[in-house]
Amino acid sequence: MPISSKLPNVGTTIFTVMSKLASDCGAINLSQGFPGFDCDPELLDLVTKYMKAGHNQYAPMSGIPIFRERIAEKTKLVYGVKLDSETEVTVVSGATEALYAAVSAVVKLGDEVILFDPAYDSYAPAVELNGGKPVFVPLEMPDFSVNWNRVKSAITDRTRLIMVNTPHNPSGYVWTTKDLNTLAELIQDKDIYVVSDEVYEHITFDGRKHLSLLTNSLLRERTFVCGSFGKTFHVTGWKIGYCLAPPQLTDEFRKVHQFLTFSTATPLQYALADFLAEPSRYLTLPDFYQEKRDLFCEGLKETSFKFTPAQGSFFQMVSYGHLSQEYDYDLAVRLTKEIGVASIPISVFFSDKKDHKILRFCFAKENKDLFIALDKLQNIKF
Ligand code: PMP
Ligand code: GLN
Repeated sequence: MPISSKLPNVGTTIFTVMSKLASDCGAINLSQGFPGFDCDPELLDLVTKYMKAGHNQYAPMSGIPIFRERIAEKTKLVYGVKLDSETEVTVVSGATEALYAAVSAVVKLGDEVILFDPAYDSYAPAVELNGGKPVFVPLEMPDFSVNWNRVKSAITDRTRLIMVNTPHNPSGYVWTTKDLNTLAELIQDKDIYVVSDEVYEHITFDGRKHLSLLTNSLLRERTFVCGSFGKTFHVTGWKIGYCLAPPQLTDEFRKVHQFLTFSTATPLQYALADFLAEPSRYLTLPDFYQEKRDLFCEGLKETSFKFTPAQGSFFQMVSYGHLSQEYDYDLAVRLTKEIGVASIPISVFFSDKKDHKILRFCFAKENKDLFIALDKLQNIKF
């Protein structure tokens, strides 16, 4: 029986498509964003310990108390912001769930939601499935910074929500204090909420600090901050994250969360709670990834691509418009098949799918794989 699609323009995500192609071709997969190495074995031992100790039934809906406390402690330590773990922290099954539940909590039929363009692929469908209307505000090329005049002009009486992503996927752009202050100034006397996707919060470079939207007191009152342990502890397959929001927002968020997934894997929560007790485990992440970003960028200098080193995230964009006019999707597919390196064409992140002749590479991989990929990229013929 045919179904009238609520998402007529959505197909299989590019991440699934490119990872499958990479696997079929035996290519080095620098496309989908996931670490090419395992997590700390101690974390695996902790999960096994809690599974064997019988922690295998439903966790409390909002998350195990000690885990929520540890997340609040991390927030205090890293951002100097004190949260009540009882009323402001919710454990979820990945940032994707947090983003969806936060959008569902505030967006009603006909509401406008400002999305920066390009944006991570789950935002617009989450808005549309909730009856909202995405309003796209283009980021400024080439650094993908925010043009605040454009944001100001996009705000109307129907604007209900703005979705922020810092560090940004795919560009790595990291919001500045000025960005936070300008956003706060623009919306402080309006009925507008913010969803802030901060999954790459611990991956910033060159001494840059991630500025959580929680650190701005005006934004804090109206923001749902979404985080993910998948990125921070190299366990993207565990799908475990959190939402930080003031009590009234958290109340509404939990109403959605309890019917979306109800709760998140119990032994993982106990294990991560123990693991979080040692802050060096996340505080060392910038150095860990800086080494990989630097290694990758050094190698890219020997290719014919143009690039500016990423400010954050584990992605590096490169442009090739000076070399070829090939459509970015076609080039990504061709490079996977012909030279054995898979990437993501960034046109997929744009609302109009416009081709800017830019590819995105994920450098969260073993150094040996990065070296092999770089060697292949250095020998491309356009
Ligand atoms: N937001 C951004 C910007 C991402 O890149 C990703 C993908 N890793 C997610 C959200 C989803 O995170 P999770 O796997 O925890 O659902
Ligand atoms: N966030 C990852 C990326 O940008 C992909 C996650 C997914 O496949 N849904 O590559």
